[in-house]
Amino acid sequence: MTRSKQVGNHKNDKKKNIAKTWKTKRRVKDIDQIHEDMRPENAGRLLKQEIDYDVPGNAQHYCLHCARYFVDLKTLKEHFKTKVHKRRLKQLREEPYTQEEAERAAGMGSYRPPKQIQVQTQEVEME
Ligand SMILES: [Zn+2]
Repeated sequence: MTRSKQVGNHKNDKKKNIAKTWKTKRRVKDIDQIHEDMRPENAGRLLKQEIDYDVPGNAQHYCLHCARYFVDLKTLKEHFKTKVHKRRLKQLREEPYTQEEAERAAGMGSYRPPKQIQVQTQEVEME
């Protein structure tokens, strides 16, 4: 037998975790996190972020309701007209799930119709 045995020759082993990395990167915020973001004190901070070169548009064009960054104002405005964004606003109009609500559902406490909250597309400065 002169044939040499093939030994581990997988130089590219480092790419095996790529799926996991990608998943984490694409993770979006939950609705309740966005409700938090919509509080005036948080919203103001999110809409006026410092320049961050790691995110699209350097973090200057953020959609609060979808928790997404856009490359420029034009893209952001286009996004406001999309089905994705409108669906999200509708979703956000429902009151965040609370402990009180859970108790009401369980027959404790008095019935109160679900509160609708006003959700509007954030203001964008016109140029
Ligand atoms: Zn949006």
